[in-house]
Amino acid sequence: MKIGIMGGTFDPIHMGHLLAAEAARDSHALDEIWFMPSHVPPHKPSAGATGKQRLEMTEAAVKQAPQYEVLGIEMELGGVSYTIDTMRELWSRFPEHEFYFIIGADMVNYLPKWEEIEELASKMTFIGVGRPGFQLHLDDLPDALQGRVLLAEMPLVDISSTAIRRRLASGHSVRFMIPDAVHQYIVRSGLYGTKP
Ligand code: ATP
Repeated sequence: MKIGIMGGTFDPIHMGHLLAAEAARDSHALDEIWFMPSHVPPHKPSAGATGKQRLEMTEAAVKQAPQYEVLGIEMELGGVSYTIDTMRELWSRFPEHEFYFIIGADMVNYLPKWEEIEELASKMTFIGVGRPGFQLHLDDLPDALQGRVLLAEMPLVDISSTAIRRRLASGHSVRFMIPDAVHQYIVRSGLYGTKP
């Protein structure tokens, strides 16, 4: 099967993440999307929810969506979540699958800095989606990445988890920016400065 992996902090998951995954699935005929919340991401400190909460919010977001799964593998592996370590585990657990890693334009530009990017790029394909405020410069990517980053068209969504956290903390609405089930989870748990 062709599996699209959507990695991230998901603190919390929002419509930008979901639309990016769906655009990649639709454009490249992916059979399934696996959302994979990181344990400790390499490039940023934890901003709010625990790993377990981020996993549960992600599960709540895709519960009703056929073809969507949530993978707790980076929580299982623990430590700092480097994609190369996770992918080595997935390649060995699922040798029959072909993996596509979905990333926003901000991450595409950052790809050359990823650990063991040459091995990653030789064994899987990246799918980049647009994100407001970030230009995609595919021609500037190093040789190892040339032809290894496909694109998927999506309606640009100017939402970030940071903006969601700020809006919640200051009492502003996030309705329709995140799934209702995720909003309910956040309020129920008193996350990001909300009052349960
Ligand atoms: P934060 O604001 O906390 O930095 P974020 O909104 O960027 O978080 P992440 O969980 O870090 O979310 O992102 C995971 C993946 O989703 C990354 O590849 C990122 O580029 C992509 N992504 C996040 N938001 C969008 C968006 N609005 N449009 C397209 N891609 C997005």
